[in-house]
Amino acid sequence: MLITYICIFLIGAALASFLNATLYRIEKEFKWKELLTQNSHCESCKHPLSWVDLFPVLGFIIRLGKCKYCGAKVNPYYPISEFILGTVFLLFFLFSIPFYFYIIILFLFVLSTYDIKDFGIPKDLTHIFLAVCLLIFVFTFDITKIYIPILIGVSLLVINIFKKSFGLGDILLILGLGILISKEQFIVFFWLSIIIALFYSVVFVIVKRIKIKKAKVPMVPFLSIGFVISTVYGEVIWNWVLKFLQI
Ligand SMILES: [Zn+2]
Repeated sequence: MLITYICIFLIGAALASFLNATLYRIEKEFKWKELLTQNSHCESCKHPLSWVDLFPVLGFIIRLGKCKYCGAKVNPYYPISEFILGTVFLLFFLFSIPFYFYIIILFLFVLSTYDIKDFGIPKDLTHIFLAVCLLIFVFTFDITKIYIPILIGVSLLVINIFKKSFGLGDILLILGLGILISKEQFIVFFWLSIIIALFYSVVFVIVKRIKIKKAKVPMVPFLSIGFVISTVYGEVIWNWVLKFLQI
């Protein structure tokens, strides 16, 4: 069984590595053909990388976070993101989460990467993502899933007219993700994402010593974290809250 777990983790980590490389190449305006066919090389010395260098997470640890050929430091964002996606895949596998959630997570991974880099997500990709969510919703039809996401989505849109708190992309994302999970999971997802983002903002403001109004926080990574936790533990957390409030 352990071998299965390691394989599932490695599939997630390898997909993260592949997506990171592809996004990097898109940013550097590689030609379409080169996106998939070009071998990976060190960003600093251009030396082609071996399979050990490219091995998800472990490659970074074996090489002590440096390029073997020129000694340049490897951006720790890569192994960390590989580790996170591998862990999410393993969690989903352990909790028998339906297969389409893996597709959603890959989208969230790419959208988070864009949000961290640019503080915004590409419109086209957001629309494709919404279409995928709708398609899954149609195939797993459950009308009770849509009331609360729509209620919160519309409220956020109205609030946004007066005071811009969420980006339009974030609101669309909340709506798309909301129709895939139960209403209990949705409430946990929504509030958990906001609480984690707020906690991060406070730490960020203290560490960077800037004013809270100047703190710019990408929301998609936090929505993704909230979504993963609520998909796996949403019902459990919901029951805790009810118990705590003694309802
Ligand atoms: Zn190098």
